[in-house]
Amino acid sequence: MFNGALDIVCFVLGSGVPTPVGHALGGLAVYVGGQYGEGVRKDWTLLGATLVAALLPDLDLAIGPFAGRSYHHYFTHSLGFAALVAGIAYWTMRRMGRASPGRDAGVIGTGYLSHIILDMLTKDTTPPFGVQLLWPLSDAFFISPVSIFSDVFRGSLALLFGLHNWLAMGREILVLVPVVGLLWWLRRRRAQLE
Ligand SMILES: [Zn+2]
Repeated sequence: MFNGALDIVCFVLGSGVPTPVGHALGGLAVYVGGQYGEGVRKDWTLLGATLVAALLPDLDLAIGPFAGRSYHHYFTHSLGFAALVAGIAYWTMRRMGRASPGRDAGVIGTGYLSHIILDMLTKDTTPPFGVQLLWPLSDAFFISPVSIFSDVFRGSLALLFGLHNWLAMGREILVLVPVVGLLWWLRRRRAQLE
């Protein structure tokens, strides 16, 4: 029961594997890269939606306590679900009267995908290892043979806020902030050249 309650705490904090900071940076990278060649313009709606999409797959942490078993890294971490999210994003952006709902949906869907890719690049110590990438076509789990990011400890609040997880978050920042910076720089440079 405690594990169930803790899963809800993790979900509220947005914690999965990597940390929510890593996933938010992944979403930010997609947003910045997605506007490549568009000049430097701020689109808060698209930024917000992309960040939400990048954190959304870990909604599955909230299923566990109700289902009585973990569904973490199952169907929400799949290409099928990413396509579904992109479809919903397209429909919503169209209804909102946005100028390019197709492009918006592409950025938001890629933001969702960034979460899955980051999870696959993260050390996984709990079976089944990896994510159910090809759901609903296959129930198999996939993980990258090379892990860049460290796993996140859960199981107790002391572990959740322990040194290991802070170091894991530090590594995500060290890897992903330069990626966001590089994409931002490329975008600015391109805008200046035009
Ligand atoms: Zn995840």
